[in-house]
Amino acid sequence: LALRDTATATFRYVRVNLIVTTVDAVIEVFIRDGFKLVEDVKALNVNAHRFMRDGDLSDVLVFPPGTVLHLHPLYVDGSVVLQDKASCMPAHVVQPQPGSEALDACAAPGNKTSHMVSLMANKGRVHAFDMDSRRMQTLVELTTKARCRIIETQCMSFLDVDPLDPKYAQVEYALLDPSCSGSGIVNRMDALVDAYASGGRPQEPQGGRLAGLAEFQISIIMHAMRFPAAKRISYSTCSVHVEENEAVVAAVLAAQDEFGLAPAEQVIPTWKRRGVAEGGLTPEQAACVVRTLPEDGTNGFFVAGFVRQKPADVEATRRHLQ
Ligand code: SAM
Repeated sequence: LALRDTATATFRYVRVNLIVTTVDAVIEVFIRDGFKLVEDVKALNVNAHRFMRDGDLSDVLVFPPGTVLHLHPLYVDGSVVLQDKASCMPAHVVQPQPGSEALDACAAPGNKTSHMVSLMANKGRVHAFDMDSRRMQTLVELTTKARCRIIETQCMSFLDVDPLDPKYAQVEYALLDPSCSGSGIVNRMDALVDAYASGGRPQEPQGGRLAGLAEFQISIIMHAMRFPAAKRISYSTCSVHVEENEAVVAAVLAAQDEFGLAPAEQVIPTWKRRGVAEGGLTPEQAACVVRTLPEDGTNGFFVAGFVRQKPADVEATRRHLQ
């Protein structure tokens, strides 16, 4: 069942859907199917029928580049999700607890939504918002396949959601993965990786577009921070641009005082590549956020965590919304 395709050189990642099964049970199935469980990433060469546990994310398994698993029964029956490792990081940064309430502001097509539900053991509630009805339909299909039962979808702009609606009074966790330039997606990455490797900076695609995206990304984070019970938020992009990443985080930290950066030990602490001290972030702050690049075997990606440090000022939110 594991065919080869050599189109990309990134590892293939399998996220175990903890709603349906366990990591150990999935490992047993792959071993039974002839895969060898190894401990050293160097053993995952392209021609090997091998796999390993991911060293950073407890519910992720790693396969050699080119391994094709979309016909595997574990994928077909929703026991595993094929998802790039970097895109599995935000839910681990949010750390939603079973039985709690969370929101996913820009949720479709829903892989991170279903990851939160997996970590919540299908207990509690996840409010999933997206403006795009076709993508939302895909979210419904994907999360149904993953057997998620606690998602409430709303096809609308997250910016139009009333954070003071009593319906959201228990929302403690927010995953924010808004639209971005997509400059970290692997097939578009070669030029950008070269630019970073040579100490240069990637060029801004289309003048001014990044500024517009950053403004939108900041507004999504600020809006999530207005939910009175929100205490833990992740912000992620599949962009390699400082303007959409560190600079957005710095702008949000400067614009409010209710949330601070989650400390490095709560943000994929074993992951070595951290943010860059640019765009207004200090080296200490940059160490609290995560970057990934194709040379790490993933897409280019960015994740930051925010934690509440001051009680919500509901009156200020009320005034802001008027
Ligand atoms: N988190 C998704 C996942 O992992 O499957 C991917 C999200 S994608 C990067 C960004 C999404 O934001 C798109 O589906 C887009 O339709 C949605 N979006 C853009 N503006 C929005 C808004 N104002 N409110 C809610 N969703 C929005």
